[in-house]
Amino acid sequence: MPRRFRPETCRWSDVITLPDVTVTFAELTTMRVGGPVAELAVATSAAHAVDLVREADAAKRPVLVIGGGSNLVVGDVGWDGRVVRIATTDLDIDGDLVRAGAGVDWDVLVEATTADGLAGLEALSGIPGSVGGTPVQNVGAYGALTSDVLESVSVFDRETGDVESWGPERCGFGVHRQSVFKHTDRWVILEVTYRLRRSPQSGPVKYAGLARHLGIAEGGTAPVADVRAAVIEVRRSKGMVLDADDHNTWSVGSFFLNPVLPELPAAIPADCPRYPDPAGTKVPAAWLIERAGFAPGYGREFGTGTVALSTRHTLAVTNRGGATTADVMKFAAHVREGVETRFGVRLTPECHLVNCSF
Ligand SMILES: Cc1cc2nc3c(=O)[nH]c(=O)nc-3n(C[C@H](O)[C@H](O)[C@H](O)COP(=O)(O)OP(=O)(O)OC[C@H]3O[C@@H](n4cnc5c(N)ncnc54)[C@H](O)[C@@H]3O)c2cc1C
Repeated sequence: MPRRFRPETCRWSDVITLPDVTVTFAELTTMRVGGPVAELAVATSAAHAVDLVREADAAKRPVLVIGGGSNLVVGDVGWDGRVVRIATTDLDIDGDLVRAGAGVDWDVLVEATTADGLAGLEALSGIPGSVGGTPVQNVGAYGALTSDVLESVSVFDRETGDVESWGPERCGFGVHRQSVFKHTDRWVILEVTYRLRRSPQSGPVKYAGLARHLGIAEGGTAPVADVRAAVIEVRRSKGMVLDADDHNTWSVGSFFLNPVLPELPAAIPADCPRYPDPAGTKVPAAWLIERAGFAPGYGREFGTGTVALSTRHTLAVTNRGGATTADVMKFAAHVREGVETRFGVRLTPECHLVNCSF
């Protein structure tokens, strides 16, 4: 018999929509910047989400679908249309199959599955955002990708008007945070099903630092609960677990993608870490940023001083309080320019930019 988890699976279902209250993206995103939302609609079921999007489409009103706002930066002009925040809460576990509404908080899902004796998501503990946001950039961490265990996705196609169930082969997942859902607003993700493994033991721990932390060899396994706890501890030490009191976490996580270069520019020194990739060589953006002269915490001395690199992770651009989107864009352009001047490599954003650019 499937078991149903409720009700606290979604952390953003309580956003109040009152006609006379202006909501801004600063309240809806983890970077905490961005202007006003013309109309906020909170979808509490898959059918409701479809109705809200269909209605706006019929009225030719621009639609922006969001979940936890943890990979999103919206301009100071905000959004002159309808924002549909997916806040569905269904979470069913049936044997090794887990079906979750797109609005379920990702880490609530990971916690529920690991506590239920399922392995497969433990390395992805502590990542902010919603279940529906994860296929968009094929979320991954510590050598694990959500696509590794994804069984199917239920999507609403705004072009055809149909709701369809897709297997992972249709999602266009790539290793570089890619999927068919990225850079398009054609599909609304309504629900995701994962196939996990009933086991008290984790999958192979592929990340050396995490294996060290657990006291096991790289590729070894450990109790699922231990891996989850270790991942959260390591992530917290890097400011990668949301904490309202810690400005290092007022971010989108990694702001820039790790570049994959067909050929390494001559300016990249021999001690730069590098990893073979089907499209060339991958180099860590954080390494390039630091070596271009941007130390952890850099930024207080730049511009308005409200945006800085995390003091614990140079790939995270953070809001130190009072930042605007314009401040974030100016700072990101400055870092990109520094890296390009030093190494001849142009960094690109990993996060979604809406009504803003740099
Ligand atoms: C502190 C921190 C740490 C992070 N660590 C990691 C990490 O380790 N690995 C990693 O991969 N990412 C990481 N991220 C990025 C982020 O958590 C993920 O990308 C997350 O999956 C985004 O989900 P969301 O619901 O917040 O999406 P949002 O930010 O709300 O939206 C992101 C994009 O997805 C679209 N979208 C959202 N929901 C839907 C839907 N239901 N249907 C269609 N489109 C949708 C939006 O339109 C937008 O374009 C981190 C972010 C932060 C702040």
